[in-house]
Amino acid sequence: MDVIVIGGGIAGIATAYQLHAAGHRVCVVERHATVAQGATYGQGGALLPSPLDVWFGPTFMASSRSKQSGMMVKTGFDSAARDFLKRLASLRDPEAFVAQYAHLQPLVDMSRRVLADIESRLELDFEQRRGVLHVFRQPRELEDAQPAIDLLKGCGVPYRQLTPEECVAIEPSVPDFPEFAGGVLLPEERTANCPLFTKQLKQVLEDEGVQFRMHRSVTSLRLDGARAAVELAESHEGKKRGADVELITADAIVVAAGTGTPGLIGGIESASSLFALRVHTLTAPVAYEERAPHLTVVDSIKRITMTRINQRLRVSGAGVFQSASKSDKPLDATLSRRALDLLGQGTHDWIPGAARVSAARAWDGLRLITADGLPIVGATRHPRLFVNAAHGPAGWGLACGSAKVVADLVSGVTPDIPASVLAALGVARF
Ligand SMILES: Cc1cc2nc3c(=O)[nH]c(=O)nc-3n(C[C@H](O)[C@H](O)[C@H](O)COP(=O)(O)OP(=O)(O)OC[C@H]3O[C@@H](n4cnc5c(N)ncnc54)[C@H](O)[C@@H]3O)c2cc1C
Repeated sequence: MDVIVIGGGIAGIATAYQLHAAGHRVCVVERHATVAQGATYGQGGALLPSPLDVWFGPTFMASSRSKQSGMMVKTGFDSAARDFLKRLASLRDPEAFVAQYAHLQPLVDMSRRVLADIESRLELDFEQRRGVLHVFRQPRELEDAQPAIDLLKGCGVPYRQLTPEECVAIEPSVPDFPEFAGGVLLPEERTANCPLFTKQLKQVLEDEGVQFRMHRSVTSLRLDGARAAVELAESHEGKKRGADVELITADAIVVAAGTGTPGLIGGIESASSLFALRVHTLTAPVAYEERAPHLTVVDSIKRITMTRINQRLRVSGAGVFQSASKSDKPLDATLSRRALDLLGQGTHDWIPGAARVSAARAWDGLRLITADGLPIVGATRHPRLFVNAAHGPAGWGLACGSAKVVADLVSGVTPDIPASVLAALGVARF
């Protein structure tokens, strides 16, 4: 079959890889000149989410104060945005959290298998590191995290719950003062460079004949003809420009266009179910080698991830929930400063002296997050249209497993995940 994949982020490239592996002729359309320029560019490195990492559950935004939650809420009177947060907050209930996480776990397992397969076939080096340490400041916070910690065992994720002394012994960059409550070590979980992997995979695909239409923006989908088609325009901020418009046809289309996805597939009552969340990163040079962490350190409550990537430290988090009408505009300078301060403070608290924050490069980007915490993966009401998007904080590895699910569906093969999970991930739930 001829398949068009829209989007050159990790979701699009991983989908193209699986479709090509399944024997389809694939064309990837990306509006930028190169791949990995959207949320994929800014990712914090955590490869696969554990129950402690997802952006829903008992500890996520448990406090309304940004200094405690690590997130900033500026929704104003936007009722859809407030509604979205209410729905997300309902997953703080431990039972609701456990039930919802059960829908994600099969996708995490699938993603682990898919990544292992790609790594063994292609032998790529994309700066993989092993070992993630979640740290908790207050005993109460550790108690709140207990349902997620219990789930680690249920999901078969190796872990060790550590006292503060054990945390410091295992990761000496974490200071023993001021006191903190303890940590959870995930010795097998990994971090890696997602943009690098995306570019490597693109190169492999290009060498094998997959077509890439870069600098082309999809302005609309046409699904009413005998074949599906997309309308392409040269990328001038994605606007149609008379003579530049071109039509390409295919047997199927996969939309993996990050925040561009809802606009292309339509039919989602956007704001209260789906949110384009602005998230920040600081990439700083290592300041003192002996203070730089060898494990990835995560402030578990604030969801601030501190990852070493060669001679740099990447610190990511500080989501800003603001009115949907503002999400595609640059963040106001004061808010931006406050978000970056949250990351700087996290670095100072947990790995002091490790990163030269004053010389850090700041970045922020939008990532699509759903009110039920699950991505949108699978078929749509139209038999030629498929989606791989909205992975929220966890698209790095998860998009790779989702890519296999989507490629199976395009090929008419039943994916190796339970039907109930497939239904929970589907766009029809909106
Ligand atoms: C600061 C930050 C930190 C993060 N940290 C982590 C982490 O540690 N671990 C993790 O797993 N995840 C993390 N994430 C999330 C992860 O980066 C995303 O889930 C993932 O990259 C999403 O990939 P994507 O391909 O769906 O979207 P994107 O990377 O945004 O790609 C979508 C692509 O589609 C293109 N596109 C859109 N519309 C059109 C159109 N009409 N025509 C043509 N092209 C189009 C865009 O140009 C873009 O290149 C983080 C995200 C951010 C922003």
